[in-house]
Amino acid sequence: MTKAICMRCGFEKFGCFVKCPNCKFTPTKNIEFEISISLREGAYSDVELTLLSKDIKNKRLVDIPLEKINWHEIYGFR
Ligand SMILES: [Zn+2]
Repeated sequence: MTKAICMRCGFEKFGCFVKCPNCKFTPTKNIEFEISISLREGAYSDVELTLLSKDIKNKRLVDIPLEKINWHEIYGFR
């Protein structure tokens, strides 16, 4: 399985589209699939994934509607 992180809470999980063991979030919309599939090893190095995970945890994206998220701003190093 591919190491990935939850786009909602930043928790590390295995498999991009599996239910997050921490917040129970499962991607269902197209945009969520797109974001989820990018948040995995292969797309990012281990170090970058750890940084993304911290970013997501700190910014608590869980409360922000997806449409309002400026992903470039959040993941500016991409
Ligand atoms: Zn989660």
